[in-house]
Amino acid sequence: MKEKDCLKNLPKKIYLEESEMPKAWYNLRADMAKKPEPLLNPATMEPVTFEELSQIFTKEGAKQELDDTTRLIPIPEEVQKAYAAFRPSPLVRATELEKAIGTSAKIFYKFEGNNTSGSHKLNSSIPQVYYAKEEGIKRLTTETGAGQWGTALAISCAQMGLDLSVFMVRCSHDQKPFRREIMRTFGANVFASPSEETNSGRKILKEDPDTPGSLGVAISEAVEVAMGNPDTKYVLGSVLNQVMLHQSVIGLESKTALEKYGIKPDIIIGCAGGGSNVGGLMAPFAGEKIRGEHDYRLIAAESSSCPSFTNGEFKYDYCDTGKVTPMAKMYTMGYDFIPSANHAGGLRYHGMSPTLSELYNQGIIEAHAYEQHDVFEANTIFARSEGILPAPESGHAIRAVIDEAKKYPSDSDDAPVILFCLSGTGQFDMMAYEKYNKGEL
Ligand SMILES: *Cc1c(COP(=O)(O)O)cnc(C)c1O
Repeated sequence: MKEKDCLKNLPKKIYLEESEMPKAWYNLRADMAKKPEPLLNPATMEPVTFEELSQIFTKEGAKQELDDTTRLIPIPEEVQKAYAAFRPSPLVRATELEKAIGTSAKIFYKFEGNNTSGSHKLNSSIPQVYYAKEEGIKRLTTETGAGQWGTALAISCAQMGLDLSVFMVRCSHDQKPFRREIMRTFGANVFASPSEETNSGRKILKEDPDTPGSLGVAISEAVEVAMGNPDTKYVLGSVLNQVMLHQSVIGLESKTALEKYGIKPDIIIGCAGGGSNVGGLMAPFAGEKIRGEHDYRLIAAESSSCPSFTNGEFKYDYCDTGKVTPMAKMYTMGYDFIPSANHAGGLRYHGMSPTLSELYNQGIIEAHAYEQHDVFEANTIFARSEGILPAPESGHAIRAVIDEAKKYPSDSDDAPVILFCLSGTGQFDMMAYEKYNKGEL
């Protein structure tokens, strides 16, 4: 009853004061009784060492990747300052969506698309570029699929003065020329992947000149360039422990904002590609669940075109197609998986965050897969009610939210509070929306 009173006087958007902003990231692994399995060196099948990892990643990145005991990792002051340009991200009550679907569920979304990258990716590009700069690194390489990660990294590299080479999955490169142009505007070199720049790219082009490419292939190319150049490091925008750590700002801000009004969510939902936005949103809540302090339903919404959780295998696999990366124990479709070219909904990565994989295997989180037609239908309902055009990826979470909320029609009095991450905007995904509007999805 108390909770309902709080909800009545709620503003549409909940803001945080500067003093309420997170000063440290939350490392969920520190609270897990059974930790994710370690990354393995494929040559020896032994756990990778700090020295091995720091050949690919920055030293601080390698350290964070291996740290499964420190609960709170301080956010460097420069990173806090860079965050302040676009954080706190808005936490919004989806009153109009609730009306549109006729539910008594109370729905909140954390909107991460309010920056030029259009997504949550900037939360991790800033610290990753900051650590590289501190370590005297001159150039970074990375892969990008839909383009949000490449854009976020291009912005951070421009601001901190590092060079950047982006290997962009060919089908996205060709379908999203504007994304490519944003990255170039921020000074990045962008190559369609597979490219002629690397051995792994040339090999695949020779076998299959018309390949649409994949994230796995683009990762191989980016890692190859980093391994071959001592002043160059590779950075990754999802899947890794360090990325999920940085994305915990999403969950920490959401939790503080809701607590200001005495609200505890019952169901927490995010879309899952490699698992960083949903993992970051869930992290502080999952911590309470693991410590036995409070129960939540935690749901990862994935694409049925790349259903790593719901149809993949839990095993050690490569993170890339060319087998140049360490092996991770995760839910995976297989390192050589290439999703259908007809797929427009994002979330194409073959594997899943090892931390979330472990939680899923232990039954602490749930996962559901959604068809792209149903995802775009949900996005259209959201756009027309809340007035924000969601990224196709985010639509998987919206679909899950609508399906859960619909179980509670307007007259039910046990309706849950649902919190979800609106991971980004769909401004650059109009080819996908066009297909949906033409009835071709
Ligand atoms: C990259 C991206 C995703 C998927 O990545 P995760 O690591 O699973 O969060 C989801 N939504 C948007 C808008 C993205 O840019």
